[in-house]
Amino acid sequence: MPWLTKSRFISGLQCPKRLWCEVHEPLEAPLPDSVAFINGRAIDQLVQTLQPGTVISREQGMPAAIAATARLMRNGAPPVLYQPAFRAGELAVIADVLRSSAGHATLVEVKSSTSVKPEHLADVGFQTLVLRQCRVPIDRVLLAHVDAAFVLKSLAQYDGLIVERDVTDEVEVALPQIAESAAALQDVMASPVRPIVPMGSQCTKPYECPFMERCTREQGGVPEFPVGLLPRGGQVVAALVAAGYADLRQVPESLLGSEVHLRVHQASISGEAYFDPTPTAALQKLGYPLAYLDFETIGLAVPEVIGTRPYEQLPFQWSVHVEESAARVRHAEFLNLESLGNFEALARSLLAALPDAGPVFAYNAPFERGVLERLADRVPGLANGLRGIAARLVDLLPITRAAYYHPDMKGSWSIKAVLPTIDPGLDYADLGEVQEGGGAQLAFLQIRAGAVSAARREELTRALLKYCERDTWGLVVLRRFLCGGVP
Ligand code: SF4
Repeated sequence: MPWLTKSRFISGLQCPKRLWCEVHEPLEAPLPDSVAFINGRAIDQLVQTLQPGTVISREQGMPAAIAATARLMRNGAPPVLYQPAFRAGELAVIADVLRSSAGHATLVEVKSSTSVKPEHLADVGFQTLVLRQCRVPIDRVLLAHVDAAFVLKSLAQYDGLIVERDVTDEVEVALPQIAESAAALQDVMASPVRPIVPMGSQCTKPYECPFMERCTREQGGVPEFPVGLLPRGGQVVAALVAAGYADLRQVPESLLGSEVHLRVHQASISGEAYFDPTPTAALQKLGYPLAYLDFETIGLAVPEVIGTRPYEQLPFQWSVHVEESAARVRHAEFLNLESLGNFEALARSLLAALPDAGPVFAYNAPFERGVLERLADRVPGLANGLRGIAARLVDLLPITRAAYYHPDMKGSWSIKAVLPTIDPGLDYADLGEVQEGGGAQLAFLQIRAGAVSAARREELTRALLKYCERDTWGLVVLRRFLCGGVP
């Protein structure tokens, strides 16, 4: 029988069907790298540099790592062991850190999050179970995570970035239940029959399940307008689902309260877009020049720029469109792939690209405002200009939300949902691999890691520029649309 590993145990706790599918009917394509995965790897690597220790290689696979760990432990456990692997019967784990001293052992699980989450306890609890069955005298269990308050004061000085929380007591309480769950999940894996589990909240919490597409298909798909598309639906959606409603169009109006929900409901039934010009009145009065701004940012778990915090969103790219008149629109852009901390170059070029006066449109402007404010703090010589831009920001998101809804937006006012309903040529799907902020961050990290060929670097760079340009051009089109097509 396949081993119940740590990741399978976590999958099984989320959903027994997920575990069974991972073992018996795995997905063909491996999951692509994500920004979260890259940040997690960076934290793991950093931890190994903070305290000297022996690293067990995973490169030859888990059985080889188990054998290597056993060889080392036979001669007395090293004081600090990274990635030791253990097997107890059909249970197997690779731990992050094992510290040993005078017959005592401390297990440390390293997380790249900024806090301890409930699911982390099950994770480290399962490891404790397996290590104790392997006669490792675990008497202390720690969860190490990123301290969100850490500020990088000098290059490569990471003392204090990782904090450890003692969770020994919580783990001791949870262990009997964890042992029971492990036994039950072994039965799930051993069964030739796939468990029957209807889709539900477990499909996205605590992790997005990779089998969602398959399960949705097998359940006969979802209605074109599921009740779940109601924006900020929360309890309303839960009540509708509990009452047996799946298709929003079947829901009586009387069960919906908010004006937005009624608008979405009505548009879903009629297939007609909603448009109310009243909220656009102030927009109509704005004169040229009209500027449009969008930043792309990255949040690194291990900060690299002095004065920054973990996961602080640092700008590496901007795009600006300026409508100087109804007939003349110019575009400017900036992309810094080399030195993330060169805020002055980014800020100076931005100030040069934007007109000295007039509105600067953004979509969800608090984000752009935050980036500008932090830039002003970092580049005091340009602070006035940057704060001036922040003061001129006009947010198109609340205006769009109040004025417009199209049934194809499926309950979302994200710019990617809105634009294709206004102009089919603005569908982000045609942008290739960089179609959203996460894709842009991943492309940025891949280029910076230097592990891509020159041709691939060129391709990713083009994709990044095209994506950011699309965002601000989309805002030009959106403003014109909201103003009735007459700028
Ligand atoms: S999509 Fe949901 S029901 Fe299907 S395996 Fe994943 S968690 Fe289970």
